[in-house]
Amino acid sequence: MRFLCVVVTFIAIVFSVILGFGMYNDSRDIERFDKEAAVFEQQSSVYQTEIDELAPKISAASEEKASLQAEITAIKRRIIYKTQPTAFLTFDDGTSYHTLEILDILKENNIKGTFFVVGTQIENGGTASKEAIRRIVEEGHVLAIHAYEHEYSKIYSSAEAYFEDFKKITTLLHDMTGFTPNIVRLPSGTATARSFCERYAGSRDVYYDIVSRLYAEGYTVIDWNVDTEDYTTATGVDGIVNNAVSGAKTRLNREYKAAVILMHDTADTVKALQRVIDGVKELGMGFEVLVQGGYVTRQIAETEKP
Ligand SMILES: [Zn+2]
Repeated sequence: MRFLCVVVTFIAIVFSVILGFGMYNDSRDIERFDKEAAVFEQQSSVYQTEIDELAPKISAASEEKASLQAEITAIKRRIIYKTQPTAFLTFDDGTSYHTLEILDILKENNIKGTFFVVGTQIENGGTASKEAIRRIVEEGHVLAIHAYEHEYSKIYSSAEAYFEDFKKITTLLHDMTGFTPNIVRLPSGTATARSFCERYAGSRDVYYDIVSRLYAEGYTVIDWNVDTEDYTTATGVDGIVNNAVSGAKTRLNREYKAAVILMHDTADTVKALQRVIDGVKELGMGFEVLVQGGYVTRQIAETEKP
């Protein structure tokens, strides 16, 4: 019996020692892990600081990369227009049901166009006008800004009046499409707009105020270099075709073989369009849309007072 007591006591002592040693080991491990965790935490906060410091540099670098890429694309386009004759079909003063007919013809020919649209025309044109805006965007054409009201005496009466009108057309287009176009054609073109500013605002300076502010806000202003004269029915279908094709032909001898062809949203233009396309194609010209950079950069409107 006494022997049994001694054995039990011995076993109890051995267990206590093992358990105690185990617990001692566990607490040492915990202490070690705590220390390692503290080191990791410290390192991670150092890394975070470094990341925070690098973030603006990374974002500046990617911005610079994007702008360099845009510049490279623009240079490439400019080189292309020196060697590959290109026509830009542009349609002003829409949209209306004529725009839908124009879109059908462009679709059949697999050609994209650039549409400088007018706000009142869109608002008054009912479902056809709105359908045309939707199709311009969906079918890969370029939607561009002309004016809300095509009223020279109003929009060129002051820079404030111009931008009041401009705000209306950009808001309308943004509401309809979810984006604001960045290509602008001044009603009447830049040269006549200057005269209109002198006439209606009393100074050509107003023109420079308008154009320089447009550029400052990220818009690009572009005119045309081939006029089909389809703004008057006196030109007729044959006249439109002839003006477009002979005008485009003159561009082949230029340093930049690019024809920016001005057309309007008219019945005669619809009738002439297929023949215009065929005639321009026969000159060996391809078709493109107007986008910022590229040929558009070559056409930059005069923003500085002479
Ligand atoms: Zn116009």
